[in-house]
Amino acid sequence: MQANCYLVCCEETACAAIIDPGGDAARIMARVRAEKRDVTLILNTHGHADHIGANDAIRKTTGAKVAIHADDAPMLTSAAQNLSMPAGEMLICSPADLLLRGGERLLVGKLEIEVIHTPGHTPGSVCFLSGQSLFSGDTLFAMSVGRTDFPGGSAGALVKSISGKLLTLPDETKVLPGHGQATTIGLERASNPFLRVGGG
Ligand SMILES: [Zn+2]
Ligand SMILES: [Zn+2]
Repeated sequence: MQANCYLVCCEETACAAIIDPGGDAARIMARVRAEKRDVTLILNTHGHADHIGANDAIRKTTGAKVAIHADDAPMLTSAAQNLSMPAGEMLICSPADLLLRGGERLLVGKLEIEVIHTPGHTPGSVCFLSGQSLFSGDTLFAMSVGRTDFPGGSAGALVKSISGKLLTLPDETKVLPGHGQATTIGLERASNPFLRVGGG
């Protein structure tokens, strides 16, 4: 599934957050050590297996707290709900330390990360906004949007989330998605074929 994992670093302290550690815990930790970072938060954009697979290994090594939206929290502990079981694996993670609702401003050292609840791909999908960087999970991709055919998905909710909460951000906002390449809000507002802005 090749999900993107991001290491988000405070420039004033050694603190960092890891967004969506889907796997390869050893590789992620090698990077954390190379950057001499103290990971304080593990942030999941949603509860699918390809975004949570290394949660426990990294929490064990770093002591970081795992945060996920309350509506996706049950997926951490259910291989059926996190879709690892249908894929032929049994991934069961520990429960979350922090349940998000949307609207929170999390602190990583002195760096602020805002939680935006964007249901649609899953009921508890969130995007994380830090400065001019938006970590969009499986909600918004470069010239595409997240699938809504999984249990709990809703195409109507997804478009409403993106139009109402993401496309309202400044054009220059960098979008760092859960899969594929980076883009910007301006580019997606202008040309994403899945979003008919103002078209009702
Ligand atoms: Zn997903
Ligand atoms: Zn994914």
